[in-house]
Amino acid sequence: MKIGIVGLGLIGGSLAIAFKKAGLEVIGVSRKDSTCQTALDRQIVAQAGTDLALMKTADVVFLCTPIDYVIDSAKAVIPHLKPDAILTDVASVKGEIVQAIAPLWPNFVGGHPMAGTAEQGINAALEDLFVDAPYVLTPIETTSQKTIATLQELIKHLQSRYYSCSPEVHDQSVAWISHLPVFVSASLIAACMSEEDPEILEMAQSLASSGFRDTSRVGGGNPELGLMMAQYNKDALRRSLYAYQQELEQIINKIEEENWEVIASSLNKTQSQRSRYI
Ligand code: NAP
Repeated sequence: MKIGIVGLGLIGGSLAIAFKKAGLEVIGVSRKDSTCQTALDRQIVAQAGTDLALMKTADVVFLCTPIDYVIDSAKAVIPHLKPDAILTDVASVKGEIVQAIAPLWPNFVGGHPMAGTAEQGINAALEDLFVDAPYVLTPIETTSQKTIATLQELIKHLQSRYYSCSPEVHDQSVAWISHLPVFVSASLIAACMSEEDPEILEMAQSLASSGFRDTSRVGGGNPELGLMMAQYNKDALRRSLYAYQQELEQIINKIEEENWEVIASSLNKTQSQRSRYI
């Protein structure tokens, strides 16, 4: 089976390395000549170039371009695909993308490998990025079993943990565990920065240690990624943020009421519930 990758960056490059390691032939298209050359020099792909016509011999094509370009990438590559080629994408939000691409190509299924690093580009690509990480497919009613089965086999090659759900369930799930944390963490940093007493602000910054490092990490990351989450997963993120706001209001009320019993019981509950996620 020949695998085509469009967008040889962190995710596209890492998929190419993993599939090649599994013995499959991999070809790649990227925007820049230099990226294609790096992929060839590192022997990540057997063939690479900037012309999407290269994808005409691929059996399965992974769209790995930035999220705001995935739909355009699909439109641009579809005229070059073999009639029975399978098309999938790796974008972190699925609703809008699946809705736009599925009517254009019957053998399309949305996907999301839940793995990454803070780095970007072909030089950040890693051999074992997807090992033991979740990989979700988001089929819809019209998705064929054959398409799903082929991708399931490929996900096995990545040694990822396979999951399947609707695009809507995916988007609300990642809003809870990935997108909400970014905005909670960003708000934490912004709230600390609102301290008006310069002595307290300076002392807080000096005393910040592992707890602050953990809780501020995702909010202090790449601003473009956070913006994409808000833009592309607006409804699900807003729903999660309102629920979070309610939780905060309850905590504030219980502290004002000095209701330590309720606060203790709620912290005991969250202590035991955390292990369901991690
Ligand atoms: P990335 O490292 O920036 O890679 C994207 C690559 O797409 C770039 O290297 C760029 O290649 C290429 N590209 C840009 N415009 C293109 C075009 N018009 N035609 C062909 N190639 C083009 O980003 P990434 O982190 O791999 O993210 C790619 C996708 O994976 C996104 O949809 C994202 O939502 C998804 N995703 C990311 C993560 C994560 O943690 N990073 C996790 C899961 C899923 P050139 O070097 O040639 O410009």
